[in-house]
Amino acid sequence: MPELPEVENTRQYLLRSGLAGRRLGAPEITWGKTVHEPSVGEFIEGVAGRCLTDLQRRGKYLIAPLDDDQFLVMHLGMTGSLRIHDARREPPPMVRHTFPLDDGREMRFIDPRKFGHLWLLPDPSGAMRKMGPEPLEPAFTVDLLASVLAGRKAPIKALLLEQSVIAGLGNLYADEALFLSGIHPERAANDLGEDETSALHAAIVRALSHSVAAYAAAREAEWPDPPIALSPWTIPRATDEPCPRCSGAMAMIRVRGRSSWHCPLCQPAR
Ligand SMILES: [Zn+2]
Repeated sequence: MPELPEVENTRQYLLRSGLAGRRLGAPEITWGKTVHEPSVGEFIEGVAGRCLTDLQRRGKYLIAPLDDDQFLVMHLGMTGSLRIHDARREPPPMVRHTFPLDDGREMRFIDPRKFGHLWLLPDPSGAMRKMGPEPLEPAFTVDLLASVLAGRKAPIKALLLEQSVIAGLGNLYADEALFLSGIHPERAANDLGEDETSALHAAIVRALSHSVAAYAAAREAEWPDPPIALSPWTIPRATDEPCPRCSGAMAMIRVRGRSSWHCPLCQPAR
């Protein structure tokens, strides 16, 4: 599932492809359930002829302000990706939606499992539930992390996945941050000591920034077709690969239904 680094990679890719400033034609929507608001017909009519002025990100959402003060909001869901291609280029498989651009190219929303989302709204926050802090913004401090975790008895892994706690983390980067900070995924959030909260904060920032940088390098190396997914985490997600820190066996447990890879030696349950 695309998480913060993947969505940021998509944003950077689309901006470098020259999406900002382009005028959109009438989009072709082949799976109507992707459009949440307004109706599919109103969405197509509202997008057609509008100029995309910028592309921003909030958590895992991409937000494109249009020149009529509306916002095209996109979420890649489980398996979605966006590509800009010459319209004459054979479309890759699983293109569900096509946004023609005024320069002979088109933005293609590829979505094998059809879990992506689209909105056209006067206020982009209408697409999102309550969102926590952006972990790569300077405002995300150890104190802020401590305050969002304070009094929460839920397993730390489950809380890291809640977008209202921290925006943009998903299963993979949550596991990575817990591995880097040596914290067991089932530890109660309000049981973490100050040192652990501080280590977790550093690990979240480190895991995400490392990945964002890896995507930037891959974009440079593989332009114009950079990868949409890398595996830039250090935690092995398999039992036959040893822990890179202690060489012990990795383990997988389910925390609130989500697979959680960890090293039982480096991340003791207490
Ligand atoms: Zn270990």
